[in-house]
Amino acid sequence: RFITLEGGEGAGKSTQLRRLLARLKAAGIDAIGTREPGGSTGAEIIRHLILSGAAKPLGPLAEATLFAAARADHLDATIRPALTRGAWVVCDRFADSTRVYQGALGNVDPRLIAALEEVTVGETRPDLTLILDLPAEEGLARAAARSGRDADRFESEGLSFHRALRDAFRALAASEPGRCVLIDASGDVDGVEEAIWKAVSTHLKP
Ligand code: C5P
Repeated sequence: RFITLEGGEGAGKSTQLRRLLARLKAAGIDAIGTREPGGSTGAEIIRHLILSGAAKPLGPLAEATLFAAARADHLDATIRPALTRGAWVVCDRFADSTRVYQGALGNVDPRLIAALEEVTVGETRPDLTLILDLPAEEGLARAAARSGRDADRFESEGLSFHRALRDAFRALAASEPGRCVLIDASGDVDGVEEAIWKAVSTHLKP
């Protein structure tokens, strides 16, 4: 089983990933957690290249292709081997982030985004994608509050950026209701964890 967590800045994906993994393991399931961009040696190097600012300014097109390269390595080195041995994989961001950040917000040609996804992801599509949704104001405030811990490159973006981000993720959830579940991430951490566990239990029956 392959589960991805998606959402805007400050949605709490990494905290929820840790909690979901713990619950899967408690249910006796062999599961690994990983993240994008990154998740393999090669992909982490690309992550650093993109996020460190060392290579700025990179446009959305350059980023889309680099994220695709990172994803190809991540799939080969980490995700597919784990799925093949029967483990569950929970990934913090995946191809939907590229659709939203570089596609919807970055205006990269959707045909290229789709083609990159087809050749990198192929059959390894997520079984379930949990989209952590929260009001733009909250995302903005949470992203600002963590400033310094994990350099967030969209920190300087205002409310309109966070609104567009939220709208794009919601549109994505609506366009693939079989795979995507919108999770209200504005509540307390325990409540969000419960909502996620309910979605996983309903969709994948661990
Ligand atoms: O989820 P996390 O905060 O670790 O993501 C790192 C940064 O990379 C975030 O600012 C995120 O929005 C950005 N990103 C992106 N395009 C992607 C994936 C991540 O701009 N396809």
